[in-house]
Amino acid sequence: MHSPLTPDGAWRRLLDGNARYVTGDALHAHQDHDRRLALADRQTPFALVLGCSDSRAPAEVLFDQGLGDLFVVRTAGHILDSAVLGSVEFGVDVLEIPLVLVLGHTRCGAVRATLESIDRHRTPAGYLRDVVERVSPAVFEARRDPDAGPDEVTAENVRHTCLGLREKSAVLTRAVELGRTAIVGAVYDVVEGHVTPVVGEGTVTLGA
Ligand SMILES: [Zn+2]
Repeated sequence: MHSPLTPDGAWRRLLDGNARYVTGDALHAHQDHDRRLALADRQTPFALVLGCSDSRAPAEVLFDQGLGDLFVVRTAGHILDSAVLGSVEFGVDVLEIPLVLVLGHTRCGAVRATLESIDRHRTPAGYLRDVVERVSPAVFEARRDPDAGPDEVTAENVRHTCLGLREKSAVLTRAVELGRTAIVGAVYDVVEGHVTPVVGEGTVTLGA
């Protein structure tokens, strides 16, 4: 059972929800007892959000969505590994979700930690090293422009994850080629509240 929405329709619904959230007009729909019971036997989320774990960037809140609306995967810096790819493939292939949104955000700790690691030539301890190593390519790419700062790195990191989804997953690539889903990148402003699309390789621009 798939969402009745197209990639464009799903993107429109996300942007509408974010607009309500920004202006303080959130509906908080689909968060009640009836909705919970209605979803008991199946889910048909209309969008998959692959975002950062940052506590200031919860997808359901900033897009004004509720139970059963979004399939959400979050890792620090929205980095990819096999478990993340498997989760996204489940959303697209099994749940037939028509939109994958890679959502970075301003003031990202994973981006900041990576910048510090590179600039100070320090490797973090433990598995944080994996996070930094996976964000590092975005720093090097963004810094081909000598004026690039954290915002440019954040946007590049979104593009990098979008590209990575297609490069690493034949399932996702096929779903995109068939038009069954689209991969879109965006950045959430943790202060202003709005979501802005990221353009570039790996991410498509949808009409909205
Ligand atoms: Zn973050």
